[in-house]
Amino acid sequence: MSKQQRYVVMGGAGFLGSHLCERLVGEGHEVVAVDNFITGSASNVAHLAGTPLFSLVEADVSVSLPVEGQVDAVLNFASPASPVDYLEHPIETLHVGSLGTMNGLELARAQGARFIMASTSEVYGDPQIHPQTEDYWGHVNPVGPRSVYDEAKRFSEALVTGYRTTYGTDTGIVRIFNTFGPRMRPNDGRAIPNFVRQSLRGDPITIAGDGSQTRSICYVDDLVTGILALTRSSLAGPVNIGNPHEISMLELAQWIVKLVGSSSETVHIERPVDDPTVRRPDITLAQRELGWEPEVSADEGLRRTIEWFREHPEVTGL
Ligand code: NAD
Repeated sequence: MSKQQRYVVMGGAGFLGSHLCERLVGEGHEVVAVDNFITGSASNVAHLAGTPLFSLVEADVSVSLPVEGQVDAVLNFASPASPVDYLEHPIETLHVGSLGTMNGLELARAQGARFIMASTSEVYGDPQIHPQTEDYWGHVNPVGPRSVYDEAKRFSEALVTGYRTTYGTDTGIVRIFNTFGPRMRPNDGRAIPNFVRQSLRGDPITIAGDGSQTRSICYVDDLVTGILALTRSSLAGPVNIGNPHEISMLELAQWIVKLVGSSSETVHIERPVDDPTVRRPDITLAQRELGWEPEVSADEGLRRTIEWFREHPEVTGL
């Protein structure tokens, strides 16, 4: 095992943050999760609460990041992430992308720690090149409904870059593509938990538009491995982490219905404004510089996710 280190996970009670905390504690590291529970929940990390390696601090990181003592790495995963969430909390999303990121950078700077920024494939907007490479600047509407999230993340990337060039802070930016797995909230509006919930209930599966728009879906364990490879490297990025397995929303819905063994039918609803048409990461950089590539097939990941939804009726209400 590598030398024990102390990590701060901003947004540690969220979907991705909780998986990061779990992996790090499992490796024997000390973890301080900081969260205000705006979209996450202490129940996501309740299974870690008994270990002396883990602590959970309730705080709004846009206001302050109250962590004392030496820190080796700060991982910034605090932000509403699903369109339903950031449209409900637009100003909080802009605050956490700007002020929250700055507070995380200040902690890393003061501690000489590495800072990892969870950015997103949304910085590419509705992309005009396909697949997306890191040198593509994106196609984002700065005043559209998604802009509170997309532009907050673009600002975060600029801020991280500013700290790196101005103060020499050790930083890494990861552009995360659609990730799924256990502990997603069934009502967070993202396609996979939506389709799984509807299939399990036998409700109609709601497809936005004709369902021909694509996403590339990565299982959470693979994502965590990629994030930690970046954390333990000196790569500044930005680096894409995602699974190039691309699928249309209609195919995804039909696949989930089949895996669940559901009788649900599909219905079409209006497609959200500025919804990207295609999304697929070019992961050449991550393969070359981090030796990372996804290992869990979409089929296996979907089976594990469906299983988790079935086993947690207290969370899913199913
Ligand atoms: P999530 O909503 O489950 O987790 C976000 C966590 O951050 C929640 O626990 C929330 O309460 C916390 N948080 C938000 N604002 C905060 C604040 N001001 N102070 C303290 N805590 C705060 O979302 P997620 O899917 O786990 O996403 C985590 C990060 O990864 C986000 O930054 C998101 O933009 C990024 N990301 C996720 C995906 C994905 O597919 N899940 C894709 C791209 C980027």
